[in-house]
Amino acid sequence: MNTIHIKFHGNLGDLLTQPADENGSLNLSFNRRASIKDVIESLGIPHAEIERLLVNHKEVTFEYIAKDTDQVDVFGLTPPFDLFSPSLLRPEPLKQIRFVVDVNVGKLATFLRMSGFDTFYKNGMTDPELAEISEQEKRILLTKDCNLLKRKNVIFGHLVREVDPKKQLAEIINLFCLSDKVSPFSRCLVCNGNLVPVAKERIIHRLKPLTKKYYDSFHICPDCDKLYWQGSHREKMEKVLKSVLGACECE
Ligand SMILES: [Zn+2]
Repeated sequence: MNTIHIKFHGNLGDLLTQPADENGSLNLSFNRRASIKDVIESLGIPHAEIERLLVNHKEVTFEYIAKDTDQVDVFGLTPPFDLFSPSLLRPEPLKQIRFVVDVNVGKLATFLRMSGFDTFYKNGMTDPELAEISEQEKRILLTKDCNLLKRKNVIFGHLVREVDPKKQLAEIINLFCLSDKVSPFSRCLVCNGNLVPVAKERIIHRLKPLTKKYYDSFHICPDCDKLYWQGSHREKMEKVLKSVLGACECE
């Protein structure tokens, strides 16, 4: 029988399926050979939520085999989480910010696109498909599903805690410190395409009379042909972004 002592740091305690003491610590006994990833995930914490792992004060990888009397410290993703530097748990860092968003946080996908972030989102995707896209295209997987983030091939992911989509956007921007990477209205909300300017005379036949009369600046999505222009819709979105970025703690 192995008994290890585990302490959870950061906001991982709210995910624990077993009670911990007031310091976020607990003792766990098991009689099988198990990686530290499996041991921690059996307590409800997906590995994608872990930034750093110490065993007996030494940094280890997820593959470390837990031994009797080990003292384990588990650190959750803490803002500002650095996506661009290699670490022991993630030796290959990201080169750019891209997301894949689960259907259970679908509105967040729209807000991320609105902020200009490359965001894959599609209805009807299975968990293995989402994990695969995250791995292959090096996209940060955002979901409310703990089990999805336990899949081995998910390297970068986050369990979205907030319920309100605007607060979810703020949560993501804060966690990865993205406020200076926000590029509003550069991406199609429908299909994720990169918007390009288009001359009014080229699309004038598609405009309703009032739009034709009051607006002169237009953008088009080259992938799905949707038109974008200033107007009440855009004003509403600007208000959302302003409130989100205003509440952001990262610089
Ligand atoms: Zn489009």
